[in-house]
Amino acid sequence: MPQYTPMMQQYLETKKEYKDCILFYRLGDFYEMFFDDAVTASRELELTLTGKDCGQEERAPMCGVPYHAVESYLNRLISKGYKVAICEQVEDPKTAKGIVKREVIRVVTPGTNLNMQALDESKNNYLMSIVYLGDELGVSVVDFSTGDYFVTEVSSGNILIDEINKFVPSEIIINEYFAMSGIDLDPVREKLGISVSALPNWYFDESLCVRKLCEHFHVSRLDGLGLADYSTGIVAAGALLQYLLETQKNSLEHLTTLMPYTTGKYMLIDSSSRRNLELVETLREKQKRGSLLWVLDKTKTAMGARRLRAMIEQPLIDHDEIINRQDVIAEFNDNVITREEIREYLNPVYDLERLMSKISCRTANPRDLLAFRSSLQMLPYVKDLIKPFNSVLMQKIYEKLDPLEDIYQLIDSAIVDDPPIVLREGGIIKEGYNAQADELRKAKTDGKTWLAGLEEREKEQTGIKNLRVKYNKVFGYYLEVTNSYKDLVPDNWVRKQTLSNAERYTTEELKNLEDVILGAEDKLYALEYDLFVDVRDKIASQVMRIQSTAKAIAEIDVFASLALVAEQNNYVRPKINDKGLIDIKDGRHPVVEKMISNDMFIANDTLLDNNANRISIITGPNMAGKSTYMRQTALIVLMAQVGSFVPASSANIGIVDRIFTRVGASDDLASGQSTFMVEMTEVANILRNATSKSLLILDEIGRGTSTFDGLSIAWAVVEHISNKNLLGAKTLFATHYHELTELEGTLGGVNNYCIAVKEQGDDIVFLRKIVKGGADKSYGIQVAKLAGVPDSVIARAKELVNDLSDADISQKAKEIAQYDKKKPDEKYIRKNELEVNQMSLFDTAKDDDIVDEINSLDIGNMTPIDALNTLYKLQNKI
Ligand code: ADP
Repeated sequence: MPQYTPMMQQYLETKKEYKDCILFYRLGDFYEMFFDDAVTASRELELTLTGKDCGQEERAPMCGVPYHAVESYLNRLISKGYKVAICEQVEDPKTAKGIVKREVIRVVTPGTNLNMQALDESKNNYLMSIVYLGDELGVSVVDFSTGDYFVTEVSSGNILIDEINKFVPSEIIINEYFAMSGIDLDPVREKLGISVSALPNWYFDESLCVRKLCEHFHVSRLDGLGLADYSTGIVAAGALLQYLLETQKNSLEHLTTLMPYTTGKYMLIDSSSRRNLELVETLREKQKRGSLLWVLDKTKTAMGARRLRAMIEQPLIDHDEIINRQDVIAEFNDNVITREEIREYLNPVYDLERLMSKISCRTANPRDLLAFRSSLQMLPYVKDLIKPFNSVLMQKIYEKLDPLEDIYQLIDSAIVDDPPIVLREGGIIKEGYNAQADELRKAKTDGKTWLAGLEEREKEQTGIKNLRVKYNKVFGYYLEVTNSYKDLVPDNWVRKQTLSNAERYTTEELKNLEDVILGAEDKLYALEYDLFVDVRDKIASQVMRIQSTAKAIAEIDVFASLALVAEQNNYVRPKINDKGLIDIKDGRHPVVEKMISNDMFIANDTLLDNNANRISIITGPNMAGKSTYMRQTALIVLMAQVGSFVPASSANIGIVDRIFTRVGASDDLASGQSTFMVEMTEVANILRNATSKSLLILDEIGRGTSTFDGLSIAWAVVEHISNKNLLGAKTLFATHYHELTELEGTLGGVNNYCIAVKEQGDDIVFLRKIVKGGADKSYGIQVAKLAGVPDSVIARAKELVNDLSDADISQKAKEIAQYDKKKPDEKYIRKNELEVNQMSLFDTAKDDDIVDEINSLDIGNMTPIDALNTLYKLQNKI
């Protein structure tokens, strides 16, 4: 078999180490891809697939992208979940002997992309590592573009999935053992479009992980970082660090802290509740508009936007922490003018965190530094303005905020106001920053003046009127003479080049000048580059100060935004209690009130506690506003625990540990499960994982099956929840089954509410007001009429509803409820009654057997004695 060409051998050697990546192989001005990579990339990037001789009979499939446009192609591949290894020429082709040496200098993956165009500035771009060791799960998350780095441990697959839903990482790495955990990541991977890869075991070697972490954080033991209790977490964090080292081959200086956190510090919200409550995006369109974040986000900076999103995704459960946040908002609203002034100063502040990461990774260009400078310029003003604030949290923020004036000065004195993006062609460093650079620059400009003098003198001496001194990269400086003046050229000029209409010459003097100018220029460019790198390195060395300032700015931005929203939307500061009381007066749905026209939203009260008001059974026709009411309660509680003010005239919120919602299954239809199965799976999850401190929002449980099954399941669920020994969680329960209203007075803590409607002749008017008591009608036909169902169908439905009246089941429900109320301890008797009934069922079965037997007798062939015996046997059976 023929050999591969030497270049292709080099390619294949490199590719061997990056099997899971698309390899971008630098060849002149292009990055080329070969073989399968070329086929994939040409398909994904719509590139023409060509071929290249590789020493074999068949040409190697090939496609390529120009090096100057590489970022956009790269981003497209990364956003589709691919990893790309960038292989560069690492020696000068001019001086190389043989094949130019090449090395992979960086691997870009969905979770490590730093390109600002590719990243949504209002979202973190997380890379997550999950480690399964025995029965323990370690989780670590990093945003490489901002330097945020967290670690935790979780106790179950469910909580792990919750964490994934909370962070929505773009990439997850797992260890090979993870496959044995029995946890299925596929559904969440598909839903969120995450790229998941299992890495070899050495990444997860505990002692290696500890060593790498210690090296990175310059400590001898990890205890000092507060990580003593996180053995599996450390492996997850260490593996993440090694993965970054492997892929970035670069400084990770901006990962300055590894923050341990416990999932118990935040309210737990499972994935379907996150979606149902539309916290950061809407259920159907998956867009921000229409979500809670959309209402609350008036932040000015990318850092603030990301922080607010994270706060909404992780409501607090600690009383004092919530109060601390409220204090800041209150203080902002006592000083509205200061608040608005601060917000104005935040306007020009760029994404300090992501700029910082670029600086640390040495990819920031001079323009990035200018963006950095103009952001830093605002800091002293902001710091000054928050100085008088008294709240505990704001004082902490004040401490964290470093005005970074030295760094501002450094950039301001070093970098010109309009620098190029390229680094090696000068024009970056300001006059006066460095004496040597100034001198070289002077030599260069002086040289140019001398050139102008030379041109003048030669023109006069030779009489060549249109003589010009010109420059190009290949020939350097030359004197250009058009053909008509050619005769006037003196003998001592040396011809450099002949064109069709002109000749180009040089002279001794011009040559000397050229050496001075180009020499100075080369030196200046090199020096400017070095000076720029030095400035960038100096900033990089201050990463801690800059990151802490960025965090402070993010928080100021978030609280100023929450304060503004509270003021504009008439929110109140909720009282926070630990006693489980939820008492909301005139509550409103924060999003729906924004979506409907002016002031049309009808406010409603909510009262829930641990005793007489644990469960509200909410009835009312479709479209009355049941789900809006229930979601509004959940959102108000959630907002309160985020620390925000809430849409109500007053509110007292008892901290809840979890919010569960079970609302119409709409988006799971695609998953291939039946609606009812999805519904029951969610109910099962809620009943297993809720605690007495949880808030449950249950909408139309049991709708997906027959009336009898549905009612029975709904009934049993309410019984279970209301029972303090079993669950005793605070619950809003909307239902179609009016029969459930019988439970009020029967089960402790259950109360009936309905959303009022007014009948007007044949029609109904929605009043949207929640009132005590159960609805006595469902008004389904009226709602159908409102929706435009044809009159003939409506008329027929009315006839049928009279015939099919469910009075029977209502009556039965009443009887059961009454029975349970009178003799709560005798439920088992009913069970015995059931057993008796079942007996009689078997009796019927016995009769059937006898009939079958008689039918099967062949009477024509029976003797009289046979007949008599058979009759005797049959009689015994009865
Ligand atoms: P249900 O769950 O009872 O079928 P929804 O909660 O979906 O009803 O409400 C139906 C519509 O009524 C909502 O889309 C909203 O526009 C409107 N609505 C609900 N509650 C209110 C309210 N309190 N004030 C004004 N409009 C409301």
